[in-house]
Amino acid sequence: MTPVLRKEKFNLPEGQVYLDGNSLGPLPKHVPARVAEVVRDEWGELLIKGWNAAGWMAQPSRVGDRIGRLIGAPAGSVVTGDTLSVKVFQAVAAAIKLRPERRVILSDTGNFPSDLYMVEGLIKTVGRGYSLRTVAPEQVADAIDDSVAAVLLTQVDYRTGRMHDMQELTGKAHAAGAVMVWDLAHSAGAIPVDLAGCDAELAVGCTYKYLNAGPGAPAFIYVRPDLATKVEPALSGWLGHRAPFDFALRYAPGEGIERMRVGTPPVLQMAALEAALEVWDDVDMNAVRDASIALQEQFIAEVEARVPDLVLASPRDPQLRGSQVSFAFEHGYAAMQALIEQGVVGDFRAPDIMRFGITPLYIDSGDISTAVQKIEQVISNRLWDASRFQIRKQVT
Ligand SMILES: *Cc1c(COP(=O)(O)O)cnc(C)c1O
Repeated sequence: MTPVLRKEKFNLPEGQVYLDGNSLGPLPKHVPARVAEVVRDEWGELLIKGWNAAGWMAQPSRVGDRIGRLIGAPAGSVVTGDTLSVKVFQAVAAAIKLRPERRVILSDTGNFPSDLYMVEGLIKTVGRGYSLRTVAPEQVADAIDDSVAAVLLTQVDYRTGRMHDMQELTGKAHAAGAVMVWDLAHSAGAIPVDLAGCDAELAVGCTYKYLNAGPGAPAFIYVRPDLATKVEPALSGWLGHRAPFDFALRYAPGEGIERMRVGTPPVLQMAALEAALEVWDDVDMNAVRDASIALQEQFIAEVEARVPDLVLASPRDPQLRGSQVSFAFEHGYAAMQALIEQGVVGDFRAPDIMRFGITPLYIDSGDISTAVQKIEQVISNRLWDASRFQIRKQVT
């Protein structure tokens, strides 16, 4: 089997252990040259001809297929574009239209706020008595009843890494007649996902986290193949039209998944994404999962043995965690700032969570030991207790 570790493919700044790939993946080394080529040879030389000659127009679904392999989605069921927040709006809008007689959208309090905000905005726009019901993550299964039109869940909790069982909850949603929408932001490239197997109607995710496609990289959306010709796009932009270049005055949805496109794709970001995905072509997600769990277990064991002030905030059972480990610490923000200065990069989520992404494509067991050693230094010597670490930056 091809080894999972492929550090040599990434630009990893010297003297740093990067445990933040769950938030922004590192740069794959071949990406700058590829993007430069697209800028110089395609945009520069082909100009408008690039749409046909360089395949810019077909790129969003071509790239979607490449992501599909990593999330258990068949060819032709995934398309890329926009940002995840926009894709959440599209997916939920399509979901509620599939159950027009129901009025509740169910989510959980562990969801990423933007997903909930987008649903709030959708509800205000649609009117007609829709409401968003949010329950604790452990209560989702029991809260799905026959008033629920759509269930929107993020599989892996961005703060704690706690993981929902996609198979089980999708089954519960379907048993109650609800449509299931999964957000795979912290799943794609992190854990094996079997979208086709769980039978969910819709899924969305982003590509700048575990898929390493760069800041602001396009998001993706999946529609179950039998529904691809039935869903009604709420964001009915021209590139989701059946024949955009007919310039008809009325919208007609495009073929299958193409209808979930909106407007002009971000060609330069798409180029970075397409190139970044090459790193994954011979990667077996089950092997990634095994390697991730081994590293997570090592990390937790070493931190708990050497830094008792940090309290595990992630589930203890590795099968219930995604690919990150979080610890609660009262002075978590300052401690993370001090740790970053020591060359170990994680991040902080309010109120007290220190978050560490575990990404076995470029993190190995030696990195984990180095990270724990630095964490021990920062906490035992109270290195965080300096005024420069107390000031909150805009991005935490
Ligand atoms: C990262 C993340 C987002 C971010 O959305 P953008 O539109 O890409 O900024 C949304 N939802 C979840 C669950 C996330 O983890």
